[in-house]
Amino acid sequence: MALTVKRPNGTMDATPSEVYKWHTIERVAKETAEQFGFREIRIPTFEDTGLFVRGVGDTTDVVQKEMYTVSSTGDKTYTLRPEGTAGTIRAVLENGILNEGLPQKVFYILSCFRHEKAQKGRLREFHQFGCEMLGSASPLADAETISLASSVISRLGIKNVELNINSIGCPECRAKYRQALTAYFEPHREELCDTCKERLDKNPLRLLDCKSKEDQEIAKDAPLITDYLCDECAEHFEAVKKYLGIMGIDYKINPKIVRGLDYYTRTVFEFLTTDIGSQAAVCAGGRYDGLVETLGGKATPALGFAMGLERIILTMESQGCEFEEPEGCELYIAPMGAKAADTATALITELRDMGVYAEYDLIGRSLKAQMKYADKIGAKFVIVLGDNEIEQRQVNVKNMATGEQTAFTIDDSFAERLSDFIMASIVEGLDTEGLIQ
Ligand code: ATP
Ligand code: MG
Repeated sequence: MALTVKRPNGTMDATPSEVYKWHTIERVAKETAEQFGFREIRIPTFEDTGLFVRGVGDTTDVVQKEMYTVSSTGDKTYTLRPEGTAGTIRAVLENGILNEGLPQKVFYILSCFRHEKAQKGRLREFHQFGCEMLGSASPLADAETISLASSVISRLGIKNVELNINSIGCPECRAKYRQALTAYFEPHREELCDTCKERLDKNPLRLLDCKSKEDQEIAKDAPLITDYLCDECAEHFEAVKKYLGIMGIDYKINPKIVRGLDYYTRTVFEFLTTDIGSQAAVCAGGRYDGLVETLGGKATPALGFAMGLERIILTMESQGCEFEEPEGCELYIAPMGAKAADTATALITELRDMGVYAEYDLIGRSLKAQMKYADKIGAKFVIVLGDNEIEQRQVNVKNMATGEQTAFTIDDSFAERLSDFIMASIVEGLDTEGLIQ
């Protein structure tokens, strides 16, 4: 096929026969978040560029290289959101949600845009399920947030995911660590990749996050943040670990995790899997106590995470996890002739209003072709409606799984009895005897 225009590199389509996978993940994420008391928030796809420059941090890869920015009138520019946190915090502040009481817990499912080198599990438009909690400085909030992410992952049936946690301290202890890191990497400056040369000057913590093998080798003996934490930060980290222990959540302490965004403080974490290629994060998050103030709000401790839904799907597929199949057709009516089509039209309208998933012929196909179609869509019951059936006011309802036929009288209560019969047959074990006439 010679399509004139194709999908942009790094984007995807979710076709009708695959979209049920998304529905499974979205339902589990939403229900779990709500169970933890998080409420959904919806925010715009694009924001003032300044929101991300300030909120995500202008030394991050995301802001430096990956943003899709479009110019508007005058000097104004807008940027397609590269992540959900900055916009969510802006919306929470702009709508005065913090005045409704603390903590505030919100979640979102949205698409993000980053100009990346597209590859498996790395797209230019991808989707995140994210949660943000505002108003608690307690380590309990950290454990609770991690527990929510962990519950979503395990409820989806995903295994072999390793939770890595770290503390990157507060601005005070991090300043000392920064110095130590710079001193460590400076002698290796020439061996580092170009991005890391720049990181060394602007944000040396990010050196630990470099994906290049050579740079990772250099970073092997770098000083560890955990040795530089101040008493309060160390105590906070200990308490987070204690609560994770009480919750029965396994974790590994990984002092190399620093996160890509500048707003993080103290606890940071990633859920990693090796089942979708090189070790990949399916979820990442942490505490960002400075962000609310940076965006113009009253200083408010906060934290959150975001889960990459494409990576979640890839992991589930590679592990053979189950997705909920769509409902599918319960009844197919095969009318034969114009009169039957009229009766079928009235009947199907009534049945649908009663909640039955029903289809009938819209193309004028032969009976044989209709039966083939009914089979293809997996119809659970089929009715063939011809002149004979209408004349004798009698019709057979065929159970496609068992081949069993059940006779029904066509009268005023037909639709209702049929609907009850179908529902009862689908919900196994219900007695259908009294429903037939
Ligand atoms: P990575 O190190 O893989 O580039 P990141 O640190 O840039 O990830 P975050 O900004 O923390 O990622 O985003 C949270 C989650 O969103 C990631 O853990 C990942 O699952 C997902 N994610 C990030 N970028 C992409 C992308 N380009 N395509 C698909 N998923 C992504
Ligand atoms: Mg990235």
